[in-house]
Amino acid sequence: MSQKIRGVKGTRDVLPIDTYVKDEDPWVRVGHYHLVEQSARDLFPLYGYREARTPVLERTELFVRGIGEVTDIVGKEMYTFDDRGESVTLRPENTASLVRAYVEHNVNQQEPETKWWYAGPMFRRERQQRGRYRQFTQIGIEAFGSPGPRIDAEQVELLDRWLRVLGVPFEMHLNTLGDASCRPKYREALQAYLRSRAPELCEDCQKRIETNPIRVLDCKNPKCQEVAAAAPKMEQFLCEPCKVHFAGVQEMLQRLGVPFVVDPKLVRGLDYYTRTTYEAIATSGLGAQSTLAGGGRYDGLVKDLGGPDVPGIGFAAGVERLALLLAQEGKERATRPVVFIAPLGDAEAARADQLAQQLRAAGLAAEVSFRKSNPGNQLKRADTLGARFALVLGDQELKSDRAKLKELKTGAQHEVTLSGFADEVRKLTGGPR
Ligand code: AMP
Repeated sequence: MSQKIRGVKGTRDVLPIDTYVKDEDPWVRVGHYHLVEQSARDLFPLYGYREARTPVLERTELFVRGIGEVTDIVGKEMYTFDDRGESVTLRPENTASLVRAYVEHNVNQQEPETKWWYAGPMFRRERQQRGRYRQFTQIGIEAFGSPGPRIDAEQVELLDRWLRVLGVPFEMHLNTLGDASCRPKYREALQAYLRSRAPELCEDCQKRIETNPIRVLDCKNPKCQEVAAAAPKMEQFLCEPCKVHFAGVQEMLQRLGVPFVVDPKLVRGLDYYTRTTYEAIATSGLGAQSTLAGGGRYDGLVKDLGGPDVPGIGFAAGVERLALLLAQEGKERATRPVVFIAPLGDAEAARADQLAQQLRAAGLAAEVSFRKSNPGNQLKRADTLGARFALVLGDQELKSDRAKLKELKTGAQHEVTLSGFADEVRKLTGGPR
């Protein structure tokens, strides 16, 4: 036998079935993904967001300039390769790509405010663990052209509503990172403080003091957290406009009835954030990788990437983590057959195919058995598929035009005719025409 070829480390197959059951890590099926994706597709347009699709492959320079050279993502996690003399990268996130598209197509000349949402795979060469993969899916939104703070609050409210629709347990965290006029002073003060306590920090954070000191604040290492707890706070350094902006966001969230906590440790990993940052963190069910979605304002990014001076704000949510929570709660979106038809012989099979065709044309999901097997096994198969009704079709049924439709959950039998089958099933289910 030839050797099996396994998937690449850190990637996952999402299938419509379970292939194993493990209590602490339920198998995530495609139906869990569908629930996450469909709820976004239904909800985001209600807030004016329209879908944008950009390529998975971008020029490496986009992320180096957009995300920042000293970030973990650009420093060590990108899938970058040479494409005949040009360096290209599998996107590690989508904000930079959407900004590129926004700038490339001069979108600001057509509309003063733009709201886009997206969904798709992202790639980061991270250490794999539960809820952290090398290919993962993000759904996110970006709004260009609104300096805030109303749009900031609207986005946080959208994220809050979405997670409530999905029914996952979470807490909304909110912070501000200041802007180009006040953050440098804070950065300096933080650096001075961290240098004085450098020996207590982990190796990575010792390097971060010089490259990206703000990231020390969200290091998971307990020693670093101890040092971070006594560090100077951004709040003390905020300039007046940043203070007013942050107060505005909080006031509006209160007005909209969105619960949140102010979290000075919420600094986000990427360079481009200014002012408002927010994260929805799962309060149970995920362990270490508990951030469901993260976002913030990036007022200088469009300009940095060669565009006009247009402000932006957005969030990205991790579909795998949301799907894991839904899997644990047994919630998914799956189409199950309304009727499973099991023909006993060849003539019945031909009729079964026609009946299935009629059901599908009426918008009802139908499955026919292609295997020869006894009625007992056929009913078992119907049950496994989650069918609502099963129809066993034999010679007798064909001749008399009458059959018994078995409702699998209750065992109830419904008398139906084959000639009026689709209509009668529709009446029984109240389903679509
Ligand atoms: P980020 O772009 O790092 O702010 O991530 C936004 C969200 O995407 C996170 O809150 C996670 O839910 C998800 N996410 C980020 N990286 C990964 C990963 N490697 N695997 C799975 N989900 C991820």
